[in-house]
Amino acid sequence: MTRKTYPICAHCDHPMNPAAEDDCDRMFQLPNGELYCPPCFKDYLLDKIDDDMDLFADALGIPVLYTEGPNADI
Ligand SMILES: [Zn+2]
Repeated sequence: MTRKTYPICAHCDHPMNPAAEDDCDRMFQLPNGELYCPPCFKDYLLDKIDDDMDLFADALGIPVLYTEGPNADI
């Protein structure tokens, strides 16, 4: 085999050639099935974190303490 096709990032169309770049050793499959390269996945995560930061805190086991309202913690 003289040619190999590499998977393409669905977001930036970058070919994932692990022999050429360190960032290309893995891809992240989104819930919709799209494959993202690590830098695009990072951007995707940052967007999601903006949408629902509490969800990520929960996923990481980080307590969220509220400073106001009837259930204020601190
Ligand atoms: Zn990408």
